This record gives sequence, C-alpha cells and structure tokens, in this order.
Amino acid sequence: MTQNDSNQDSPRLGTLAVHAGEEQYLAERATQVPVFLSAAFGYENVEEWLEVALGRAQGHIYSRNTNPTIAAFEEKVRQLEGAEAATSFATGMAAISNTLFALLKPADRVVSLKDTYGGTNKLFIEFLPRYQIKVALCDTTDAGAVEAAISEDCQLLYLETPTNPTLKVVDIARLAQAAHQQGAIVVVDNTVGTPINQNPIALGADLVIHSATKFLGGHADALGGVICGRRDLVEQVYHYREINGAALDPMSAYLLLRGMKTLELRIERQNRSAMQIAQFLEAQPSVELVNYPGLESSPGHEIAKRQMRGYGGMLSFQLKGGFEAVKKFLAQLRYAHLAANLGAVETVAGPPATTSHVEETVEERAAMGIPEGLVRYSVGIEDVNDLIADLAQALAKIG
Ligand SMILES: *Cc1c(COP(=O)(O)O)cnc(C)c1O
Repeated sequence: MTQNDSNQDSPRLGTLAVHAGEEQYLAERATQVPVFLSAAFGYENVEEWLEVALGRAQGHIYSRNTNPTIAAFEEKVRQLEGAEAATSFATGMAAISNTLFALLKPADRVVSLKDTYGGTNKLFIEFLPRYQIKVALCDTTDAGAVEAAISEDCQLLYLETPTNPTLKVVDIARLAQAAHQQGAIVVVDNTVGTPINQNPIALGADLVIHSATKFLGGHADALGGVICGRRDLVEQVYHYREINGAALDPMSAYLLLRGMKTLELRIERQNRSAMQIAQFLEAQPSVELVNYPGLESSPGHEIAKRQMRGYGGMLSFQLKGGFEAVKKFLAQLRYAHLAANLGAVETVAGPPATTSHVEETVEERAAMGIPEGLVRYSVGIEDVNDLIADLAQALAKIG
C-alpha cells in the first residue's frame, strides 16, 4: 500500500503520468522501474525483519502484500487522483469486490445505480445479498431518487460515471454530499472517466476505483485494478486484500506503469477523436441515438461540463436495425478489434451482450435500460479521419 507522507508542490497531470512514483524504485541507476519478480524479500536478521513486519521500517516482506514494482504503480495512480493512499489488485473486479466486502457487513445497505458495470451489478444482485447486505439500485440519472434512497438508510454509496456502455453522467458532488450527511462512504468507479478527465476525490468521493486494464494501462496487455482515497479506508481494504490474496502481479504492474506514461497523451487524443466521431455519427440517418457526454444533445452534458475536464474516449450508439444491424455493422469495421475490453490504443467495438454486460441475460439488460441494438465504441489513437471513413463505409453496407 502506498501513502502520501510529504506535502510536495504538485506538478501537472501530464508530468505526473510520466514521472510520479518512480524515483525511489530506480535501482542500479536504471531509468525505468525494474520488475521485481521476487515472491519474498530477505533480511540479515530477525530484528530488521520484524521492524518491517511491524510497519516500523520501510520495506517489503512478501509480494502478496507489497512489492516495489507494484508500489510504484500504486503511487503513480495515487498522485494522478490526488489521493492520500492507494492499493492495487489483480483485476478491476478484484478491486471492486474486495472494497465492498472489506467495508460492508450484514445488515448494511448499499445505494447504487441501475447501470453500473456488469460485474459490479452481479455483486449487487447476486453476491452481497447472500451476506444479508441490502442493495438499492436507483435510476442512474435520477439524482432525486438516489438522494431519497440514501436518506432512507445507507452505509455506502457506489457510483460509476460516465457509465459503461450508455455513458450516463452522475453528479458526484451532489450525491457525495447527500451520502456524507448520512455518514456513508462514497465510492466512485472512474475507469471510463480516467484521472485525466475527472478526479472524483476533488468532488467529494472517499474512494476511487479503476479497472487499470482499460485506459490506465492503455495497451490491452495486462489486467489490474486499483483503489485510492482516504487512508483509513484504503488500509481496511488493503488488509482484506492481503488475506483474500487478489494481488496484482509485478509483471502486470510494470506494463501498467509503462502504459501510464502516455496516459495524458492518449486521453487528449481519444477525447478529441471521440468528440469528432460522436458528431459524425449523430448526423447519420442509420444511427438512432449517440451516447457521448460531450454532445450538447446528451442529457448528461451539463453535469459533465461541470465535473469533467474532457469527455472521454468511449461512446456508444444505437443502430436503427437492432441487434441484426449491429452484427452486420461490426463485421464490416476494418480498424476496430471486436473484443470485450476498452480504453486501448486500438479502437475496440462490440455489443453490450458480449462486452460490459456479458454476465447479464437479455431480460436483465433490458431492465437496466441497455438496448440490444447498441454498439460500444472505444476510440483508439488511430488517425480520426481513418476511423470516420471506416465507420462511414460500414454504415453504408447496412444501408
Ligand atoms: C472493465 C471494467 C471493470 C472490471 O475490470 P476488470 O479489470 O475487467 O476486472 C469495472 N468497471 C468498469 C467501468 C469497467 O469498464
């Protein structure tokens, strides 16, 4: 677990993405953080070992708990989110499930949204109720309904914004305030937003979660998850994770760390391209609806303008011909991997049925307001003119 002990003046995000968290781990004059592939760390004597074990001296004991490469990754995320502390996990879902199971107990009540990420929704509807944890899932864009649910009873408010795959925007500051009045903990999944576009902690969140597999790593070659925020809460979740065992792997931590060096560059490009593509799609007759918070037509635009610095690299759109049209359209795309991930340097596209909500049935997706005729399109760093031409030719083929 990584914590902030000093009060340095803060460099800007693009600089943090490149340098933050690395300096103390640059062994042997390396300019890159080494991959510490060591399960355990040895000591000269038991006294020295005990000092580290008891937390009285800095150091590492066993890589299920902490590891230098992983610590560098956590530190970079911590600084980018402006958090007190950070800890990491094998995957984004490990980060989410460990956080919920570490902070909740029987009879507690979670308030969340109908369209969180599919795996998160499964925790809410299938796993938490097994432990007598109550879950209230509210209409994602009805802030009044969320506030009402919070005031009834709430120990933890769990938000995701923008949502995956319908890009709905939730007012973090407003709902965090309502939750704090009830003494509840506020957790925000910032995977789609990224720390370049929004910092939920500055808006009132206590904990921020990322699937690092997506935009943070950016290269679709490593899985990982991370949480950061209030130190006391991160410590509780870290304690659960060191026993639960869902630790990040040092090789993955290295890949994520390397990917994050270009985070600001990639996000700037992806923000710009996604906006252009959203505007292009909105003008196409075969497209029923485009979901992108940057569009003035988007219901979440006003809130997004207040709480985000950029509107992100992911959008979704509905084709007039439903799921049949989606299947035909996707097969025509030249520059998009048809795959389950998002946030990569390559454009990635797919329907919710095989991506964000593969865990749900058709009926469950319908109940969540996720149409089968939807295409999720995660914009890569390719030249935007090529992407638009590609979309145009694929749309032309479905007529
Ligand atoms: C992918 C994703 C997750 C889960 O992350 P994994 O690394 O796949 O476990 C959680 N939340 C959101 C918003 C995601 O897109």
